[in-house]
Amino acid sequence: MRIAIVGYGKMGKEIEKVALERGHTISAIVDDKHETLLDELQVTHTDVAVEFTQPEAAVSNYIKCFEMGIPVVSGTTGWLSHFDEVKSSCLSHEGTLFYASNFSIGVNILFEMNRKLAGIMNGFSQYDVEMEEIHHIHKKDAPSGTAISLATDIIDRLDRKSSWGIEKMHDSEIISINSLRQGDVPGTHHICYKSPEDIITLKHEALGRRGFAVGAVVAAEFSFGRKGMLSMQDLLSF
Ligand code: NAD
Repeated sequence: MRIAIVGYGKMGKEIEKVALERGHTISAIVDDKHETLLDELQVTHTDVAVEFTQPEAAVSNYIKCFEMGIPVVSGTTGWLSHFDEVKSSCLSHEGTLFYASNFSIGVNILFEMNRKLAGIMNGFSQYDVEMEEIHHIHKKDAPSGTAISLATDIIDRLDRKSSWGIEKMHDSEIISINSLRQGDVPGTHHICYKSPEDIITLKHEALGRRGFAVGAVVAAEFSFGRKGMLSMQDLLSF
């Protein structure tokens, strides 16, 4: 496949390596500091664009790709308040957007375990739940998109929780998410249920960025020839 890399930062460079290893060609590299503009992708015979940029850039990048008829796979986080606008643009242009707040297979296993555990914990009101996420100091959004996905899945299953918040909350209906920024940490997430008697913890710790890049390239292979809004749940079957 001919893959365009949109956003040539830490993730874009890792995706380039993995795409080449898997036998793909890089049709273009689009970055703020790079010559190729997104509008020029049309003449590059790109099969799929893989977009890892920043929250302020993602939505207009998706819409341009829909207009050009190029499927887009994106891991950029922090844009979900525009989800309805993006979805309607995708559907009206018969475009393709494969979005995942986290492309790591391990994190997607964690998502599944988190959903199962929250369903069980709904019957055990003596446990309160809180979360912590740790990322590198350059990360722009907080909490992480992954932490928000985990919290949303808990809220959907735990009747005693109605929303999440970013500080230590005294409202028992709110899940508090503690966001820490340290060094070059690629991404660590904890979900912690505490009762007066014990603690149950789910934890995922990424050891590097390669796991995210492999997931994104596999998602690009999956997206080729498919239409609409796609997610890791379409790709993985547990
Ligand atoms: P980074 O800052 O290293 O790279 C971002 C790059 O995007 C920079 O090179 C920047 O110049 C470029 N850019 C900014 N605006 C642009 C635009 N309009 N068009 C093209 N390029 C533009 O960041 P990163 O660590 O590579 O992460 C990028 C995004 O991916 C972040 O939102 C991060 O949270 C997310 N992320 C997601 C996953 C996942 O699995 N979903 C994993 C890691 C990171």
